[in-house]
Amino acid sequence: MPERILTLENGIRAQLLDECIDRNEIPDADSADIWIINNEKAWEVREFLISVIRHRDPKIFLKPIFLQKDLKKFYKEYKNYNLKYLCDGYIQNVNIQNKIPYISFILNAIKKLNEVVLQEDNLLKKNILYYYSRNKNIEFYESSDALSGYSYPRIEACYDGTIDAYANGRTLLYIGYKSDLLRRNYADTSHICHKCNSGFLNYREECPKCREHNLQVRVLIHHFRCAHVATEQNFVKGEKLVCPKCSMELKNLGVDYDKPGKIFYCLNDICGNEFQKPLIGVHCINCKTEQTPSELNVEKIYTYELTQKAINEIFN
Ligand SMILES: [Zn+2]
Ligand SMILES: [Zn+2]
Ligand SMILES: [Zn+2]
Repeated sequence: MPERILTLENGIRAQLLDECIDRNEIPDADSADIWIINNEKAWEVREFLISVIRHRDPKIFLKPIFLQKDLKKFYKEYKNYNLKYLCDGYIQNVNIQNKIPYISFILNAIKKLNEVVLQEDNLLKKNILYYYSRNKNIEFYESSDALSGYSYPRIEACYDGTIDAYANGRTLLYIGYKSDLLRRNYADTSHICHKCNSGFLNYREECPKCREHNLQVRVLIHHFRCAHVATEQNFVKGEKLVCPKCSMELKNLGVDYDKPGKIFYCLNDICGNEFQKPLIGVHCINCKTEQTPSELNVEKIYTYELTQKAINEIFN
């Protein structure tokens, strides 16, 4: 069954896509100006959008594509699919009223870019064309589902596999920056696993002697009269506090003794080390690698915008 085509405001032809998404089939680009996803299966929608993004024909990968707000509830569980970042976002029903300037801008850009010759594997240029056609910067999105916590969904959708998509996507942006096609604006600094680039890390104190992280914090007591300092455990005698050095009972905090600080006690049976300065160990939840903070990769997070050079090169 052919997918429905509607004529909307300003004569914009919209094609409602449903069955072709089940089959991951790209419709004819010339039949409509925009595509509206009319399919509630989040995974299939994602696969379809990825096929569009990876398509060679600018008329396909630049096509304005919208999701419908009414179907949002079906996608809700699959936030990690980043559906709205892989297309032009949501519209209510088929109401494009407030999107008309945006759509017109894209359609004009597509007309201009129609003549552009693309080498098949020039992903950087493809992305430059896309962001030019949207008049948008390449923004990152923060998400606990993203490998490092920060992702560029559309860039990463050009590659398979989370780890490769992360690495190749970052490399592509870096090449764009180095070749003066992208200008980058600093946004944040992030520390990620040196092995897998995950940002899902557990930091905890470690014993400097045996590297155990099962530690106990113990309160120090300082007996004024004899100047003895030891952990509270050493002073406890039943209900009372008694100094192990001079055998006097400690009665009033601040008068005959104080608590100058805390120390760590290692609960590893064969260690039992007491120490003030623990090491910090970092455990990667994603790949289970243990590392020190200084071993983590430091990644700077940027937004990217097209340079004038990039725009000039599109048409040359
Ligand atoms: Zn220890
Ligand atoms: Zn004492
Ligand atoms: Zn890791």
